[in-house]
Amino acid sequence: MLKIGSHVSMSGDDMFLGSVKEAISYNANSFMIYTGAPQNTRRRPIDELKIKEAHELMEEHGLSLDNVVVHAPYIINLGNPDPEKRAFAVNFLTDEVKRTHAMGIKQMVLHPGNATGGNREEAINWIAEGLNEIINNTKGIDVKIALETMAGKGTEVGRTFEEIRQLIDLVQDKDRMGVCFDTCHTSDANYPIKDDFEGVLDEFDKVVGLEWITVMHINDSKNEQGAAKDRHENFGFGHLGFDTLINVIYNPRLKDIPKILETPYVEGKPPYKHEIEMIRNKEFNPDLKEIIANS
Ligand code: FE
Ligand code: FE
Ligand code: ZN
Repeated sequence: MLKIGSHVSMSGDDMFLGSVKEAISYNANSFMIYTGAPQNTRRRPIDELKIKEAHELMEEHGLSLDNVVVHAPYIINLGNPDPEKRAFAVNFLTDEVKRTHAMGIKQMVLHPGNATGGNREEAINWIAEGLNEIINNTKGIDVKIALETMAGKGTEVGRTFEEIRQLIDLVQDKDRMGVCFDTCHTSDANYPIKDDFEGVLDEFDKVVGLEWITVMHINDSKNEQGAAKDRHENFGFGHLGFDTLINVIYNPRLKDIPKILETPYVEGKPPYKHEIEMIRNKEFNPDLKEIIANS
């Protein structure tokens, strides 16, 4: 079964229940949540998240929590040279894993971090140290941390499959790890997603192992391969294009993996209902952006 959805918000009074409602409105059977604004770390207490109500609505609609993921805020940097900031990141992510678990969700996507200190090896070691601490702080909790493949913008760690491998190697409890494969990011990081996706999968399999992929982000890119800019484009409207992304989504080697759209809003409107419909129909609609804008 195709597992497709998008990121949805968790805010207002409905919180998690609102996220489920939003996913259902897009005809999604998978979705990703930021537990608050992705650019800050203010979070509501767990008992205000409407978890029970969310689970009931999911059950009513036949949705499985196995296909839901949390995305940690992207301002968190486990590779920060400042030990106090790293300690803050570890504490925040420890709570985020607990929140994820309280919501019944089994994985949390994380941008590995940034080598803001300039030394990538040092940053990788700090990140791994942080991951080990978070995992130790949440022993016995069945939540994986899925490291996202990054575009390589600025000093981002996780631009190459080798760096992802290195991080997994440095984590003691590997059962708690996964990988989030992002199509825009890997193309921006100079992997030939458009020209040779099978070759990229072979390379990933060789360096990391395909079995580590626990979730995918499906985004087109506003820029050509290797641009390292990380600017997402709507499905089929970027440099990857419709056929490339459809082949990724329906690739038999990635069949059971939940696939999440993080494509941009079109004139303030979410594109996901329309993009998901187009993905299910496997037919490109060049007028989609106008349709979304006028919806
Ligand atoms: Fe991300
Ligand atoms: Fe992503
Ligand atoms: Zn991105």
